[in-house]
Amino acid sequence: MDLRDTPDEAAFRAEARAWLEENIPRELQGYRGNETRFAQLGLAWSRKLYDAGYAGLTWPEAFGGGGAPYSHQAILLEEMARAEAPQHLGVIGLGMAGPTIIAHGTDEQKSRHLSRILSAEEIWCQGFSEPDAGSDLASVRTRAEQHNDTFLVNGQKVWSSFAHLSDWCILVTRSDPSSERHKGLTYLIADMHAPGVEVRPLRQITGHSEFNEIFFTDVQVPKENLLGAIGEGWQVAMTTLLHERGTLGFALTAALEVNVRKLLALAQGLEDTRLRDRVAREWIELQALRYTNYRSLTTLMKTGIPGPEGSIAKLQWSEANQRLTKLARELLGPDGVVDDGWWHYQQLRSRGNTIEAGTSEVLRNIVAERVLGLPKGR
Ligand SMILES: Cc1cc2nc3c(=O)[nH]c(=O)nc-3n(C[C@H](O)[C@H](O)[C@H](O)COP(=O)(O)OP(=O)(O)OC[C@H]3O[C@@H](n4cnc5c(N)ncnc54)[C@H](O)[C@@H]3O)c2cc1C
Repeated sequence: MDLRDTPDEAAFRAEARAWLEENIPRELQGYRGNETRFAQLGLAWSRKLYDAGYAGLTWPEAFGGGGAPYSHQAILLEEMARAEAPQHLGVIGLGMAGPTIIAHGTDEQKSRHLSRILSAEEIWCQGFSEPDAGSDLASVRTRAEQHNDTFLVNGQKVWSSFAHLSDWCILVTRSDPSSERHKGLTYLIADMHAPGVEVRPLRQITGHSEFNEIFFTDVQVPKENLLGAIGEGWQVAMTTLLHERGTLGFALTAALEVNVRKLLALAQGLEDTRLRDRVAREWIELQALRYTNYRSLTTLMKTGIPGPEGSIAKLQWSEANQRLTKLARELLGPDGVVDDGWWHYQQLRSRGNTIEAGTSEVLRNIVAERVLGLPKGR
């Protein structure tokens, strides 16, 4: 593939860059204050992105999207990261729930949710992980019992990002109690405002609470909120996970580039050759990641479905970011304690990056089996 922008892509890039320069919400950049204020600012910014046509660029126009090629989405993500623009608050709706509804939803579900996800009128969370089901999603135990036209849901989810701000949840449940592993799972759309849903924020190592526990006690989910067929939730969940990792690469790489640039600025005048080697390594890794992303983009443009290569970008980025932030703090030395705390925060937050959306160990297994074609580990 030709890696340079076509004239059309170059024009789109210039337009997005100019728009971001003019509209970026300075108050929200790197915001680490009160959660309510964060949500207000985030919603206003998401709405602005939507009004400008930058939410759901590749979604079909019939659902309120832009119908643009994936290359435009990649360019927008690059430009947003380079400008250090905050994300649309509905990352889970845009990146996971929406694509899953497009792939498996009924017409009624599509018209009910898709345009509201884009406009941030609906914020979504992902209810997959449980206390005993993280990497091993097939161990999910949250129960969904069918009673005529409703499912009665009981159980607990954990680590659910944005659940405290969410209206809806993509929920993996076990509908057949006698089933095991990947069978007997059912994928539901749960109303986070329904009676019996309780959200308890969890405090992270950074001091912030981005994720939560969710408790479901006799929550009634109407049958029209079933996504895919009863007992076939595993297949639907796989669509969600491919999208979670598949389209992240460009944003992550561009975010890494910003951090590498900041690291290079810190390293100006550095004479210790071992430290200089470590700085150079981060620049080299960044270039490798960029070309891996072009490979993923090629698959996506050919098939419309993200390939397993998306796991490589997530794995490389999260580990590089952890090393890089640690190195930055070493370079800062005692000054790191008295600066604005930016690198300190970044390093603490980077710990979760190698766990969320698949741990590094699990992603290595995926890359070994599905990208390199090595024999299965088990
Ligand atoms: C910041 C953050 C946000 C998150 N947001 C969400 C969210 O919105 N929704 C949601 O559902 N979940 C979310 N999660 C949860 C995340 O998906 C899980 O933490 C992750 O899948 C790991 O599961 P676990 O924590 O249960 O660890 P476990 O699966 O118990 O893993 C423990 C350790 O064992 C290793 N391990 C497990 N299986 C294997 C294997 N087969 N081979 C080799 N090693 C293995 C793991 O790599 C890890 O080191 C989030 C997590 C974080 C940190």
